[in-house]
Amino acid sequence: MSFYLNEEQTISGKCLDVLDKLETLIQGTRTCLNNDPSNSRTLLQSCTEKVTELQTSMEQIEKKYNSKLNKLSKEFEKKCPNALDKVIETNGVHVYLPMLLADHYVRIGDMELAKAVKGVNFNDWDDYQSAEYSEACKLLNLIMERFSLFDLKPAIEWAKDNHDILMERGSNLTLLLHKFECLHILMETRDPVRCMQYCRKNLTNLQGADLSELQSLFMSFLLVPKSPNVSDDMSSLQEYIGELDWDRLKDTFTSEYCKINGLPVESPLQTVLDVGTFALTAYIKFSKISSKNFQPLNDGLTMPMDIDLPEKYRYHSLFICPVSKQQSTADNPPMLLACGHAISKNSMLHLTQNSHRKCKCPYCPIETNPSDAMQLYF
Ligand SMILES: [Zn+2]
Repeated sequence: MSFYLNEEQTISGKCLDVLDKLETLIQGTRTCLNNDPSNSRTLLQSCTEKVTELQTSMEQIEKKYNSKLNKLSKEFEKKCPNALDKVIETNGVHVYLPMLLADHYVRIGDMELAKAVKGVNFNDWDDYQSAEYSEACKLLNLIMERFSLFDLKPAIEWAKDNHDILMERGSNLTLLLHKFECLHILMETRDPVRCMQYCRKNLTNLQGADLSELQSLFMSFLLVPKSPNVSDDMSSLQEYIGELDWDRLKDTFTSEYCKINGLPVESPLQTVLDVGTFALTAYIKFSKISSKNFQPLNDGLTMPMDIDLPEKYRYHSLFICPVSKQQSTADNPPMLLACGHAISKNSMLHLTQNSHRKCKCPYCPIETNPSDAMQLYF
């Protein structure tokens, strides 16, 4: 592939050379015509000949490019044996692939495109039937779009609407959003008074706010020159703000938003593509070794060999309750508490047998109402 990319660069360089020559030729001919109109016939004839030459060299470049492209596709077919076709034919792929594609389009907020994916029956597909799922995806896309323009208002609005649940989860997202917004105002206006007013309006009633976060925010006001006329030096504040990681804020927001709305944080299609890319090399090697009677997937679901995936992609196929040390079953499934910790249903109910009927997480101080806990599926 890198060979192909290099080749493409060389070819586009050659095309530009030809175009430069053409430009010089036309300009030269025009100057000559202006200087000596009587010689126009000879000039135009010689120009036409040179243009034809350039056209021929352009055609040769195109021909060479096409033959290289042809070779590349043959090379690719040779390197990826037929075994891959068998994977694609494996039961389930025809069902899951369109679903993943449709899910991806729903996630990026394009319902029209999602519905256009062939092989997906939306009526059988509970998650996508629910308007809430697509609405939640749509809102997340809108918030992210505004995020990229450094406009936090829709994100702050959402955090305000979900204030209680965020507090219950022990999340400091609301404070973080206000902090970024306030510093953004500070950068734009250089007006600490306006920022103080913003803080008074938005942070006064913020319960459970981290004091050190607030202190660092107020400290930043001191770094701004009192008047832009006195000094234009904003470097100390810029240095301070440089530490504010917008990408991290974006990730924190997406993670909280997805967890509260029951959306997967990572796109399932992206995960499948990433894992597939990791597995492909090992898979091709394996299929070459055992090419005769090669069974691509043992039972249609399991790979015939171990693939060493990065930590991020290692999911557990079974759940052992950290409280009871018992494996989960259909009757005793794992439950996700409001804080993000997971224990089995029986343990949760056991821990709920107290006077205020709430389950106190065994790992952190947060309490969960059992009806708010979400069942996890492995
Ligand atoms: Zn917990």
